[in-house]
Amino acid sequence: LIAFLLYLFYLVAPVGQLVQGFTQMQNGLAAVKRIREIEELPAEEAGGAAGEIGTAPAGVTFEEVAFRYGDDRPVVHHDVSFAVPAGGMTALVGPSGAGKSTVFALLERFYEQQAGTITVDGRDIGQWPLRELRASLGYVEQDAPVLDGTLRENLVFAAPGVSEADIGRVLALTRLEDLVARLPEGLETMVGHRGIMLSGGERQRVAIARALLRRPRLLLLDEATSQLDAVNELRLREVIAEVAKETTVLVIAHRLSTVTSADRIVVMEAGRVRAVGTHHELLDDDDLYRELAATQFLLPT
Ligand code: ATP
Repeated sequence: LIAFLLYLFYLVAPVGQLVQGFTQMQNGLAAVKRIREIEELPAEEAGGAAGEIGTAPAGVTFEEVAFRYGDDRPVVHHDVSFAVPAGGMTALVGPSGAGKSTVFALLERFYEQQAGTITVDGRDIGQWPLRELRASLGYVEQDAPVLDGTLRENLVFAAPGVSEADIGRVLALTRLEDLVARLPEGLETMVGHRGIMLSGGERQRVAIARALLRRPRLLLLDEATSQLDAVNELRLREVIAEVAKETTVLVIAHRLSTVTSADRIVVMEAGRVRAVGTHHELLDDDDLYRELAATQFLLPT
């Protein structure tokens, strides 16, 4: 019987691994697809003269933006107005469904608002050539996948042709040098399902490094909700602060350490901006923010 059970185990285990691998591959493919879509946009798409893609941090404004995902869908943004100055870190917070992710989707022009104006770098995003707009934005999704491949491949697949110096600079900035030093074959080590598994904190920093190698003028970061250990929590905070010195960071924040170090926090509720301020200002002035701080932001362990 034991032999039979063992046989069954061996029969079933690879299937489980396959399923897991397939899910990871699908996640990875979604990320690749998103980047490919951006790369493959025709240059003349969506009007506007194609210019040099700048490198300076870009500010953002939302002015009285109204949006719904379809005519028969509920209104998601009733009247959203806020400004993100160029450089520094701005955190978006609010209850689930407030419309935070939709801010990112509109900025990337996956959808178009029905009313109001959105600008990046002082320019109406509808006037930007889409390829140029998206090349200026970096997006780090929540729980970003690690692709099966080497760490190097994971870093450069969206930015082929980057120099070793760029890779070295970004590894230092994202505090990944220790990881590279620990891996048996450094950057050439296989990671992901068929290689060394990275922790949640490492995965998010790899995703940030991948985005930074494309030199975005605005980094959109959907912070991982997963609990991080104290070291990874600290590293992530340091990395976001460092990145905010180089570019504009707009982060959907889930961590107390992120909101406390943000230059400003935009509190959204039910498709409107309810308050803007620093952590301490909002703790004093805004009931909803106080409640969010107490219940939603994950405390460092
Ligand atoms: P969460 O913190 O839960 O991610 P959020 O503040 O980011 O919430 P959004 O994801 O922007 O909120 O969602 C706002 C509303 O829009 C929700 O009611 C959601 O169901 C809806 N929504 C979001 N994405 C889509 C989509 N692609 N198609 C249709 N409806 C959507």
